[in-house]
Amino acid sequence: MNVAVLSGGVGGARFLRGLMGVVEPGNVSIVGNVADDIEVLGLRVSPDLDSILYTLTGRSDEERGWGRSGETWQALESVAELGGESWFRLGDRDIGLHLVRTELLRSGVTLTEATERIARALGLEARLLPATDDPVRTFVETPAGTFSFQTWFVARGHRDEVDALHYPGAPAAAAAPGVVEAIDEADVILIAPSNPYVSIGPILAVGEIRAALERRSVPCVAISPLIGGRAVKGPADRMLARLAGGTTPTHVASCYEGLIDALVIDELDEASGPVRGVKQTVVTKTLMSDESAARKLAAAAVHASGALA
Ligand code: GDP
Ligand code: CA
Repeated sequence: MNVAVLSGGVGGARFLRGLMGVVEPGNVSIVGNVADDIEVLGLRVSPDLDSILYTLTGRSDEERGWGRSGETWQALESVAELGGESWFRLGDRDIGLHLVRTELLRSGVTLTEATERIARALGLEARLLPATDDPVRTFVETPAGTFSFQTWFVARGHRDEVDALHYPGAPAAAAAPGVVEAIDEADVILIAPSNPYVSIGPILAVGEIRAALERRSVPCVAISPLIGGRAVKGPADRMLARLAGGTTPTHVASCYEGLIDALVIDELDEASGPVRGVKQTVVTKTLMSDESAARKLAAAAVHASGALA
């Protein structure tokens, strides 16, 4: 069974790790968000792709919840000492990856190709595809002004409410090589429990990717990132409340109107009534407290696709 998964960073990666226990990893194509990418200290950082790479190859720091395990911070300490830009947290081991990626990109290799080489070196079994090789970035409009994603998320600690999102570059962006084929050839399409606005939104803003989902002939199943109307981590609940008008499963489904057939929701959200905008609702435990919980959640999503097919 071929599976295509649209994914952001940490939430998506946890789900994907579970999925690897349910389907053959070699048959999984991951379409990763690149609109959080940033150039810091001359290095090209792709936070969401890296969260996936680290998590799926056993290199993620589970306690901190992001980044690499066994990380040290000496390079960044040195940067701070020298008065350099140190607000964006880059660990020493992480920097090693960014050095290699940056060098590849500078030599003319595409992000898709650079990601493939890094993934192979790290031993990733699934196929990790950036959504696009073109520069698409997320900007948020807030009462305090319009900010780039990382300025808002990291530097300002996502404290500003978001009134609107912009994905400059998206209208002109092409899907990266392999992305449309992966979606077209999938037996099931999954949307990971990632932030609909800042992780999945920019992927769907690429016209060719949205079109591929719209013309799908196989089920597309999304997993809600909210439990009891609350995000497990991050600003997804506040964003949904302000931008979609609420945090029920119907509000989550409204982010993917016309693009999904089923939504997997948590037991804690069942009471908010029938979910509008999908053919099927799957109710289960969606907290991925460990790998086994993530595997059960992934199995529920894949199973739902069978019922719809
Ligand atoms: P980011 O790019 O690193 O911010 O990560 P994602 O966008 O992929 O994931 C962030 C989302 O994952 C948040 O909205 C969380 O609510 C959601 N999330 C994290 N852990 C869990 C979990 O165990 N279960 C569910 N359902 N959602 C989760
Ligand atoms: Ca992200």
